[in-house]
Amino acid sequence: MIIFKKPDDISAFLEKKNLQGLSTGFVPTMGALHTGHIYLLQECRRENDCSIVSIFVNPTQFNNKEDFEKYPITVEQDIYMLEASGCDVLFLPGRNEIYPPGYSAEYYELGRMETILEGEFRPGHYQGVCQVVDRLLDIIKPSKMYLGLKDYQQCIVLSRMATSKSIPVLLRLCETVREPDGLAKSSRNMRLSPAARETAAYIYQVLNNIKHSFGKVNQQELIRSGIAMLQDQGFQVDYLSIADAKTLNPATEKQPASELVVLIAATIGGVRLIDNLLLG
Ligand code: AMP
Repeated sequence: MIIFKKPDDISAFLEKKNLQGLSTGFVPTMGALHTGHIYLLQECRRENDCSIVSIFVNPTQFNNKEDFEKYPITVEQDIYMLEASGCDVLFLPGRNEIYPPGYSAEYYELGRMETILEGEFRPGHYQGVCQVVDRLLDIIKPSKMYLGLKDYQQCIVLSRMATSKSIPVLLRLCETVREPDGLAKSSRNMRLSPAARETAAYIYQVLNNIKHSFGKVNQQELIRSGIAMLQDQGFQVDYLSIADAKTLNPATEKQPASELVVLIAATIGGVRLIDNLLLG
């Protein structure tokens, strides 16, 4: 695996690959890698001649300073995992490489996506996500980019950003990798105490309850009982939404399960977790 820190160096290296007609697949991450990230890399390796992973904890997407400061950094272990998993190229830039002096942030028109669900609870988050991914795509210019459906709203936002800027990249959205008890793998899970870690699995249980009861119980009741179950376990619930899978607007009573997704954001033991499940 070759490690690059400077944008000009990785751009020059990848331009040669492009000129040779080789396909390049890109997995952007913030490090603290787990098997969810490695699954994205495996998909990327399967479909491309050259796989590229980036690790950059992007300060502009954190609306909460403490969350940024507490974000786990495990670079040495990450490098070991990537190497063992057959990654070809790691891009490991510093803050000045991504946001050099004189960089001025673009404003991304994200419409309602910016004010609902994660957008509502994390003001400015998606502007930051678009900034960093736009910048990374400009440096790496991959044929395909691999994103996890775990961050469902992020997939929609980035797909809109790429389309609106006519960025020639194909997005590949990959299934969520879970722990045996259903908890979605997340870099944040390592901050959970043993007790909170055990309780955290209730999020997936609630998602599944809603999936299995959908159509038998009315939607408002499903939402109400889902929130109550999480609160009973000690979660502070930001939202539990049954939404249109394309627009994330609240589902209408007439919409079939095949068009819908359930999304949850909730905090347990001081750690905010998000997860979702397609109902179809
Ligand atoms: P992060 O490092 O958390 O910003 O995530 C980098 C990428 O990995 C994003 O596209 C995430 O959606 C994806 N990802 C994170 N957790 C998982 C998971 N459990 N399963 C699949 N993909 C994931």
